[in-house]
Amino acid sequence: MIKNMIKTCSKCKTEKPATLEFFSAEKRIKSGLNSWCRDCRNNKVKDHHVTDNGKQQVATAVSKYNGSAKHKIARKRYEDKKKQINK
Ligand SMILES: [Zn+2]
Repeated sequence: MIKNMIKTCSKCKTEKPATLEFFSAEKRIKSGLNSWCRDCRNNKVKDHHVTDNGKQQVATAVSKYNGSAKHKIARKRYEDKKKQINK
């Protein structure tokens, strides 16, 4: 029986049941479970955008998009639409 298996999260060091309820699936790892618990994984994703690094990445992505041809087309479409509405 694999019941009552306890896994220690390598991030918060909390012991939690080694089930998919507490750990997300990770196919590359032998146990099939991620070494970080779901809480830590969720926190990491959430926290990323408020870190300086995360902010920088978002800013870079936005500025890249703003100068892209795709954005220019979208911008033009928006302006055309606005003109039509104002008519
Ligand atoms: Zn954890």
